[in-house]
Amino acid sequence: MDLSAADHRIPLSDGNSIPIIGLGTYSDPRLTPKGICKTSVKAAIDVGYRHIDGAYVYQNEHEVGEAIREKIAEGKVRREDIFYCGKLWCTALDPENVRPCLERTLKILQLDYIDLYIIELPMAFQPGDKIYPRDENGKWLYHKTNLCATWEVECHPYFIQTKLLKFCQQHDIVIVAYSPLGTSRDPTWVNLSSPPLLTDPLLKVLGEKYNKTAAQVALRFNVQRGVVVIPKSFNPERIKDNFQIFDFSLTEEEMKSIETLNKNVRFVEMSMWSDHPEYPFHEEY
Ligand code: NDP
Repeated sequence: MDLSAADHRIPLSDGNSIPIIGLGTYSDPRLTPKGICKTSVKAAIDVGYRHIDGAYVYQNEHEVGEAIREKIAEGKVRREDIFYCGKLWCTALDPENVRPCLERTLKILQLDYIDLYIIELPMAFQPGDKIYPRDENGKWLYHKTNLCATWEVECHPYFIQTKLLKFCQQHDIVIVAYSPLGTSRDPTWVNLSSPPLLTDPLLKVLGEKYNKTAAQVALRFNVQRGVVVIPKSFNPERIKDNFQIFDFSLTEEEMKSIETLNKNVRFVEMSMWSDHPEYPFHEEY
Protein backbone atom coordinates (compact mmCIF):
# COMPACT_ATOMS: atom_id res chain seq x y z
CA MET A 1 0.00 0.00 0.00
CA ASP A 2 1.53 3.28 -1.09
CA LEU A 3 -0.17 5.83 1.13
CA SER A 4 0.73 9.49 1.49
CA ALA A 5 -0.66 12.57 3.19
CA ALA A 6 -1.88 13.80 -0.19
CA ASP A 7 -3.33 10.49 -1.36
CA HIS A 8 -4.43 7.96 1.22
CA ARG A 9 -7.71 6.66 -0.10
CA ILE A 10 -8.18 2.90 -0.16
CA PRO A 11 -10.57 1.19 -2.57
CA LEU A 12 -13.95 -0.20 -1.57
CA SER A 13 -15.49 -3.13 -3.40
CA ASP A 14 -18.30 -0.98 -4.85
CA GLY A 15 -15.82 1.19 -6.76
CA ASN A 16 -15.76 4.02 -4.22
CA SER A 17 -12.81 4.75 -1.94
CA ILE A 18 -12.31 5.88 1.65
CA PRO A 19 -9.47 7.97 3.15
CA ILE A 20 -7.63 5.71 5.61
CA ILE A 21 -7.61 8.35 8.33
CA GLY A 22 -10.55 10.47 9.43
CA LEU A 23 -11.28 12.91 12.22
CA GLY A 24 -13.53 11.51 14.97
CA THR A 25 -15.95 14.11 16.32
CA TYR A 26 -17.56 12.60 19.41
CA SER A 27 -17.19 14.71 22.53
CA ASP A 28 -19.66 14.80 25.43
CA PRO A 29 -22.06 17.62 24.40
CA ARG A 30 -22.58 18.61 28.06
CA LEU A 31 -18.88 19.34 28.51
CA THR A 32 -17.80 20.60 25.10
CA PRO A 33 -17.71 24.33 24.34
CA LYS A 34 -19.83 25.39 21.38
CA GLY A 35 -17.84 25.97 18.21
CA ILE A 36 -14.85 23.79 19.04
CA CYS A 37 -16.04 20.98 16.83
CA LYS A 38 -16.34 23.36 13.87
CA THR A 39 -12.88 24.85 14.49
CA SER A 40 -11.41 21.36 14.78
CA VAL A 41 -12.97 20.08 11.57
CA LYS A 42 -11.66 23.15 9.73
CA ALA A 43 -8.19 22.66 11.25
CA ALA A 44 -8.28 19.01 10.24
CA ILE A 45 -9.18 19.85 6.63
CA ASP A 46 -6.37 22.42 6.58
CA VAL A 47 -3.77 19.84 7.62
CA GLY A 48 -4.99 17.32 5.07
CA TYR A 49 -7.76 15.16 6.58
CA ARG A 50 -10.39 14.36 3.97
CA HIS A 51 -12.57 12.02 6.03
CA ILE A 52 -14.80 13.19 8.89
CA ASP A 53 -16.65 10.79 11.18
CA GLY A 54 -19.78 12.23 12.75
CA ALA A 55 -23.26 11.36 13.95
CA TYR A 56 -26.64 12.88 14.76
CA VAL A 57 -26.30 11.66 18.35
CA TYR A 58 -23.05 13.59 18.87
CA GLN A 59 -25.22 16.75 18.71
CA ASN A 60 -22.56 18.70 16.83
CA GLU A 61 -23.35 17.62 13.27
CA HIS A 62 -24.40 21.20 12.41
CA GLU A 63 -20.87 22.37 13.28
CA VAL A 64 -19.34 19.65 11.10
CA GLY A 65 -21.56 20.73 8.19
CA GLU A 66 -20.68 24.39 8.67
CA ALA A 67 -16.96 23.60 8.73
CA ILE A 68 -17.13 21.52 5.55
CA ARG A 69 -19.25 24.11 3.76
CA GLU A 70 -16.93 26.95 4.76
CA LYS A 71 -13.89 25.03 3.52
CA ILE A 72 -15.67 24.40 0.21
CA ALA A 73 -16.63 28.09 -0.04
CA GLU A 74 -13.00 29.08 0.63
CA GLY A 75 -11.91 26.87 -2.27
CA LYS A 76 -9.76 24.69 0.00
CA VAL A 77 -11.64 21.52 -1.00
CA ARG A 78 -14.43 20.40 -3.26
CA ARG A 79 -17.37 18.43 -1.86
CA GLU A 80 -16.15 15.31 -3.67
CA ASP A 81 -12.78 15.53 -1.89
CA ILE A 82 -14.47 15.02 1.49
CA PHE A 83 -15.71 11.68 2.81
CA TYR A 84 -18.36 12.15 5.50
CA CYS A 85 -19.66 9.24 7.53
CA GLY A 86 -22.96 9.76 9.37
CA LYS A 87 -24.83 7.35 11.65
CA LEU A 88 -28.33 6.09 12.20
CA TRP A 89 -29.15 6.27 15.91
CA CYS A 90 -30.74 3.42 17.90
CA THR A 91 -34.20 5.05 18.09
CA ALA A 92 -34.56 4.88 14.30
CA LEU A 93 -33.63 1.34 13.34
CA ASP A 94 -37.10 0.45 12.00
CA PRO A 95 -36.82 0.54 8.20
CA GLU A 96 -39.44 3.31 7.79
CA ASN A 97 -37.39 5.61 10.05
CA VAL A 98 -34.09 5.26 8.19
CA ARG A 99 -34.77 7.64 5.32
CA PRO A 100 -36.28 10.43 7.43
CA CYS A 101 -33.27 10.26 9.76
CA LEU A 102 -30.82 10.43 6.90
CA GLU A 103 -32.77 13.38 5.49
CA ARG A 104 -32.63 15.07 8.90
CA THR A 105 -28.86 14.61 8.96
CA LEU A 106 -28.55 16.14 5.47
CA LYS A 107 -30.65 19.09 6.62
CA ILE A 108 -28.50 19.58 9.73
CA LEU A 109 -25.30 19.34 7.71
CA GLN A 110 -26.76 21.37 4.83
CA LEU A 111 -25.08 19.02 2.40
CA ASP A 112 -26.65 17.22 -0.56
CA TYR A 113 -25.27 13.81 0.28
CA ILE A 114 -23.12 11.92 2.70
CA ASP A 115 -20.61 9.26 1.71
CA LEU A 116 -21.40 6.57 4.23
CA TYR A 117 -24.33 5.94 6.57
CA ILE A 118 -23.91 3.28 9.18
CA ILE A 119 -25.81 1.83 12.11
CA GLU A 120 -24.41 3.53 15.20
CA LEU A 121 -25.10 0.57 17.48
CA PRO A 122 -26.99 -2.59 16.50
CA MET A 123 -29.49 -2.33 19.38
CA ALA A 124 -32.87 -0.69 18.90
CA PHE A 125 -34.30 1.77 21.43
CA GLN A 126 -37.91 2.92 21.53
CA PRO A 127 -38.56 5.15 18.50
CA GLY A 128 -39.37 8.79 19.21
CA ASP A 129 -37.77 12.13 19.91
CA LYS A 130 -35.86 11.09 23.02
CA ILE A 131 -32.30 10.13 22.14
CA TYR A 132 -31.92 8.02 25.30
CA PRO A 133 -35.47 6.84 26.11
CA ARG A 134 -36.16 5.59 29.66
CA ASP A 135 -39.38 4.91 31.56
CA GLU A 136 -40.45 6.78 34.72
CA ASN A 137 -38.23 4.49 36.81
CA GLY A 138 -35.17 5.23 34.74
CA LYS A 139 -35.26 1.86 32.99
CA TRP A 140 -34.00 1.89 29.38
CA LEU A 141 -36.77 1.49 26.83
CA TYR A 142 -35.58 -1.06 24.30
CA HIS A 143 -37.28 -1.97 21.06
CA LYS A 144 -37.38 -5.05 18.85
CA THR A 145 -36.31 -4.74 15.26
CA ASN A 146 -34.77 -6.77 12.50
CA LEU A 147 -31.14 -5.88 11.91
CA CYS A 148 -29.78 -6.51 8.45
CA ALA A 149 -26.68 -4.34 8.19
CA THR A 150 -23.27 -4.07 9.65
CA TRP A 151 -21.52 -1.56 11.85
CA GLU A 152 -18.07 -0.18 12.79
CA VAL A 153 -15.60 -2.11 14.95
CA GLU A 154 -13.39 -0.95 17.80
CA CYS A 155 -9.76 -1.70 16.94
CA HIS A 156 -6.36 -0.69 18.43
CA PRO A 157 -3.22 -2.43 19.73
CA TYR A 158 -5.07 -3.68 22.85
CA PHE A 159 -7.92 -5.10 20.76
CA ILE A 160 -6.48 -6.12 17.43
CA GLN A 161 -9.46 -8.06 16.00
CA THR A 162 -7.35 -10.60 14.08
CA LYS A 163 -10.23 -12.97 13.34
CA LEU A 164 -12.61 -10.26 12.15
CA LEU A 165 -9.92 -8.52 10.11
CA LYS A 166 -9.03 -11.78 8.35
CA PHE A 167 -12.68 -12.49 7.57
CA CYS A 168 -13.25 -8.96 6.26
CA GLN A 169 -10.09 -8.98 4.14
CA GLN A 170 -11.11 -12.30 2.60
CA HIS A 171 -14.46 -10.75 1.65
CA ASP A 172 -13.12 -7.36 0.51
CA ILE A 173 -14.68 -5.53 3.44
CA VAL A 174 -12.83 -2.49 4.83
CA ILE A 175 -12.85 -2.06 8.61
CA VAL A 176 -13.16 1.38 10.21
CA ALA A 177 -11.56 1.40 13.67
CA TYR A 178 -13.23 3.64 16.18
CA SER A 179 -11.43 4.60 19.41
CA PRO A 180 -8.05 3.93 17.73
CA LEU A 181 -6.27 5.81 20.56
CA GLY A 182 -8.11 4.00 23.33
CA THR A 183 -10.95 6.55 23.81
CA SER A 184 -11.19 9.60 26.07
CA ARG A 185 -11.56 7.18 29.04
CA ASP A 186 -14.84 8.79 30.08
CA PRO A 187 -15.97 6.49 32.93
CA THR A 188 -19.67 7.00 32.12
CA TRP A 189 -19.36 4.83 29.01
CA VAL A 190 -15.80 3.49 28.80
CA ASN A 191 -14.66 0.23 30.38
CA LEU A 192 -11.50 1.24 32.24
CA SER A 193 -10.35 -2.27 33.17
CA SER A 194 -7.76 -2.02 30.42
CA PRO A 195 -4.87 0.41 31.09
CA PRO A 196 -4.54 3.58 28.97
CA LEU A 197 -3.28 2.68 25.53
CA LEU A 198 -1.10 5.73 24.98
CA THR A 199 1.16 5.12 27.99
CA ASP A 200 2.08 1.67 26.72
CA PRO A 201 5.88 1.24 27.01
CA LEU A 202 6.28 -0.54 23.66
CA LEU A 203 4.35 2.12 21.75
CA LYS A 204 6.48 4.76 23.47
CA VAL A 205 9.80 3.02 22.67
CA LEU A 206 8.81 2.54 19.03
CA GLY A 207 7.73 6.17 18.93
CA GLU A 208 11.15 7.27 20.19
CA LYS A 209 12.84 5.25 17.46
CA TYR A 210 10.90 7.08 14.74
CA ASN A 211 10.60 10.41 16.55
CA LYS A 212 6.86 9.85 16.83
CA THR A 213 4.36 9.69 19.69
CA ALA A 214 2.68 6.54 21.01
CA ALA A 215 -0.52 7.82 19.38
CA GLN A 216 1.13 8.05 15.97
CA VAL A 217 2.52 4.51 16.35
CA ALA A 218 -0.93 3.19 17.35
CA LEU A 219 -2.51 4.85 14.30
CA ARG A 220 0.26 3.73 11.94
CA PHE A 221 -0.14 0.14 13.17
CA ASN A 222 -3.76 0.05 12.01
CA VAL A 223 -3.18 1.98 8.80
CA GLN A 224 -0.38 -0.40 7.87
CA ARG A 225 -2.79 -3.36 8.17
CA GLY A 226 -5.31 -1.60 5.91
CA VAL A 227 -7.63 -0.53 8.73
CA VAL A 228 -9.19 2.95 8.50
CA VAL A 229 -8.69 5.02 11.68
CA ILE A 230 -10.84 7.90 12.95
CA PRO A 231 -8.93 9.42 15.90
CA LYS A 232 -10.90 12.16 17.64
CA SER A 233 -9.15 15.33 18.69
CA PHE A 234 -10.38 18.87 19.19
CA ASN A 235 -6.82 20.07 19.92
CA PRO A 236 -5.07 21.70 16.91
CA GLU A 237 -1.63 20.24 17.68
CA ARG A 238 -2.96 16.73 18.20
CA ILE A 239 -5.18 16.95 15.09
CA LYS A 240 -2.00 17.72 13.16
CA ASP A 241 0.14 15.09 14.90
CA ASN A 242 -2.42 12.35 14.35
CA PHE A 243 -2.19 12.99 10.61
CA GLN A 244 1.63 12.75 10.49
CA ILE A 245 1.63 9.00 10.01
CA PHE A 246 2.51 8.69 6.35
CA ASP A 247 6.21 9.53 6.65
CA PHE A 248 7.37 6.43 8.52
CA SER A 249 6.61 2.73 8.53
CA LEU A 250 6.89 -0.01 11.10
CA THR A 251 8.93 -3.11 10.28
CA GLU A 252 7.22 -6.48 10.06
CA GLU A 253 8.82 -7.42 13.37
CA GLU A 254 7.52 -4.26 15.04
CA MET A 255 4.02 -4.92 13.69
CA LYS A 256 4.19 -8.41 15.21
CA SER A 257 5.44 -7.08 18.54
CA ILE A 258 2.52 -4.61 18.68
CA GLU A 259 0.14 -7.50 17.99
CA THR A 260 1.40 -9.18 21.19
CA LEU A 261 -0.03 -6.25 23.18
CA ASN A 262 -3.53 -7.50 22.41
CA LYS A 263 -5.63 -7.90 25.57
CA ASN A 264 -8.96 -8.69 23.92
CA VAL A 265 -10.56 -5.99 26.01
CA ARG A 266 -12.99 -3.47 24.60
CA PHE A 267 -12.89 0.10 25.84
CA VAL A 268 -16.34 0.77 24.36
CA GLU A 269 -18.33 -1.94 26.09
CA MET A 270 -21.64 -0.08 26.63
CA SER A 271 -22.28 -2.33 29.63
CA MET A 272 -25.29 -0.22 30.67
CA TRP A 273 -27.10 -1.82 27.72
CA SER A 274 -25.75 -5.36 28.19
CA ASP A 275 -29.26 -6.67 29.00
CA HIS A 276 -30.53 -5.56 25.58
CA PRO A 277 -31.60 -8.69 23.64
CA GLU A 278 -29.47 -7.56 20.68
CA TYR A 279 -26.42 -6.52 22.76
CA PRO A 280 -23.63 -7.33 20.29
CA PHE A 281 -20.62 -7.82 22.53
CA HIS A 282 -21.62 -11.09 24.24
CA GLU A 283 -20.56 -12.85 21.06
CA GLU A 284 -17.07 -13.37 19.74
CA TYR A 285 -16.40 -12.06 16.24
P1 NDP B 1 -10.03 8.02 20.39
O1 NDP B 1 -9.38 6.70 20.55
O2 NDP B 1 -9.99 8.69 19.07
O3 NDP B 1 -9.42 8.98 21.51
C1 NDP B 1 -9.87 10.29 21.69
C2 NDP B 1 -9.22 10.86 22.94
O4 NDP B 1 -7.80 10.90 22.78
C3 NDP B 1 -9.66 12.27 23.24
O5 NDP B 1 -9.74 12.42 24.64
C4 NDP B 1 -8.54 13.14 22.65
O6 NDP B 1 -8.45 14.37 23.35
C5 NDP B 1 -7.32 12.26 22.90
N1 NDP B 1 -6.26 12.40 21.89
C6 NDP B 1 -6.39 12.60 20.56
N2 NDP B 1 -5.20 12.62 19.95
C7 NDP B 1 -4.26 12.42 20.92
C8 NDP B 1 -2.84 12.36 20.92
N3 NDP B 1 -2.15 12.50 19.79
N4 NDP B 1 -2.21 12.16 22.10
C9 NDP B 1 -2.91 12.03 23.25
N5 NDP B 1 -4.26 12.07 23.32
C10 NDP B 1 -4.93 12.27 22.16
O7 NDP B 1 -11.53 7.86 20.94
P2 NDP B 1 -13.03 7.97 20.46
O8 NDP B 1 -13.77 7.01 21.32
O9 NDP B 1 -13.45 9.41 20.42
O10 NDP B 1 -13.07 7.36 18.97
C11 NDP B 1 -12.84 8.12 17.80
C12 NDP B 1 -14.11 8.42 17.03
O11 NDP B 1 -14.75 7.21 16.63
C13 NDP B 1 -15.23 9.14 17.82
O12 NDP B 1 -14.95 10.51 18.07
C14 NDP B 1 -16.39 8.90 16.92
O13 NDP B 1 -16.34 9.76 15.79
C15 NDP B 1 -16.16 7.42 16.53
N6 NDP B 1 -16.85 6.44 17.45
C16 NDP B 1 -17.90 5.69 17.04
C17 NDP B 1 -18.54 4.77 17.88
C18 NDP B 1 -19.71 3.96 17.46
O14 NDP B 1 -20.28 3.25 18.28
N7 NDP B 1 -20.13 3.99 16.23
C19 NDP B 1 -18.09 4.51 19.23
C20 NDP B 1 -16.95 5.31 19.59
C21 NDP B 1 -16.40 6.20 18.71
P3 NDP B 1 -8.33 15.80 22.60
O15 NDP B 1 -9.58 16.04 21.82
O16 NDP B 1 -8.17 16.76 23.75
O17 NDP B 1 -7.09 15.74 21.74
